[in-house]
Amino acid sequence: MENPLKWIRIERAMPLPGPVRETLSKLDDAGFVGFVVGGSVRDFLLGRTTKDFDIATNAKPDELEKIFPNALEVGKAFGVLKIPSPTVGPGGTPGLIEVATFREDLEYKDHRHPVGVKFSGPEEDARRRDFTVNALFYDPKTQRVLDCVGGMQDLQSKTLRAIGEPALRFREDALRLLRAVRFTHALGFQLEEKTRSAVKSQARLITKISPERIRDEMTRMLQGPSPAAAVRMLSELDLLGFVLPEVEVLQKIEQPTYVQRNLWLHTLHVLELCASQNPKRSIPLAWAALLQEIGKPIAWRRSGEKSFVGHDRDAATAADKIGERLRFSRDETDRLIVLVRDHLKLREVFNMREATLQRLIREPFFEDLLALHRAAATATDGNHACWEFARSRHQEFLKSPPPDAAKILTGEDLIHLGLQPGPRFSEILRSVEDQVLELKITTKEQALEYVLRHFVK
Ligand code: ATP
Ligand code: MG
Repeated sequence: MENPLKWIRIERAMPLPGPVRETLSKLDDAGFVGFVVGGSVRDFLLGRTTKDFDIATNAKPDELEKIFPNALEVGKAFGVLKIPSPTVGPGGTPGLIEVATFREDLEYKDHRHPVGVKFSGPEEDARRRDFTVNALFYDPKTQRVLDCVGGMQDLQSKTLRAIGEPALRFREDALRLLRAVRFTHALGFQLEEKTRSAVKSQARLITKISPERIRDEMTRMLQGPSPAAAVRMLSELDLLGFVLPEVEVLQKIEQPTYVQRNLWLHTLHVLELCASQNPKRSIPLAWAALLQEIGKPIAWRRSGEKSFVGHDRDAATAADKIGERLRFSRDETDRLIVLVRDHLKLREVFNMREATLQRLIREPFFEDLLALHRAAATATDGNHACWEFARSRHQEFLKSPPPDAAKILTGEDLIHLGLQPGPRFSEILRSVEDQVLELKITTKEQALEYVLRHFVK
């Protein structure tokens, strides 16, 4: 018999948050079996922390509904319930408990979804999962792990292996192509050889997956521990050209002044630096580190392969397109655009007008801009003078921000001076704001005097 059911007693019990234990005992009280499964078991066995807990059970959806009347139903047809818990995550943070009936997936359509499911036992449930290390069940009552697919051995040897015939599994659900790359790098594993060549041979199918799902997988990869290695693997396995052709073409362009002349290698360098310098980084920063050079191939082509003039605007346009294509929110896209376009501005900090610097510093994205500039500076020439200066000015700003110009002088005040409302008002108010940001004006009297002197004939 292939892969006989294997129960393995483990030395240390898996610590389960209270809400997970309660969920399991409710199932037990109602006479059903409940195992912890998936990422949380894998992470426990690897000594890593987990946020979400998945429970698999032989209770059918109707029965689950009775046992957990307050749960969110995410897919009754699939037998999946979600129980939000404010305290299930690491250190008592919010997380989710998902309870699902053991099932096998029926035939898949569109390389995305099964046409339906059939409720079954744990062995079938293990086989429908993606990778062997994601298919381990833990039974807290006996402190044993049920391994139907060789996941324990793969955990030991740090191997990410598709369950069953890899190419077939990627054809069923093409998102697994990206998950393979993400888990390999998130866990620090090797991608098993047959699984790896199947990713490469099926890479094109990633085009069947919705932009939102691609974006979310990519985001987790980019916010993970080794984004540069993950992105390099995406390219080696022919996925990157389908997902982000704008990044793939960087391989063809050289910038002789960089430590890494090739823009693709330079980008990987920036990604790696940005990750090590900012272990926790925002979504826009994680993406901007990948996209900050994408304007250059466009500028290079436009100039007849002579220069990169205008590449910052090209980068902004390209980032906008990517944001739309991958269905980022408008806010996230805007922030991404600012980061890829403006991080170079920080090279000018020593020559910048004080008011311009203050306007930049007060933006909520400034910390991300600083972080991106720092990584790019390390990879470009190692000169951190601009970064250090901008950072110290930012710290000063946080300690004592300049006064709010809008509180010192308003349009009302201009009307009282006898000025006619119109487009000139914003010009005057902006000019006053410059003075306020440079601490040359601090009171209303000074502001009125300034307006009278400069704008009233
Ligand atoms: P993490 O949440 O840390 O990224 P995870 O293993 O918990 O990792 P989830 O996406 O939360 O991953 O999915 C939970 C489990 O559901 C997985 O461990 C796996 O067994 C199964 N699973 C999820 N997505 C798929 C898929 N596309 N194909 C097959 N099985 C999947
Ligand atoms: Mg999970």
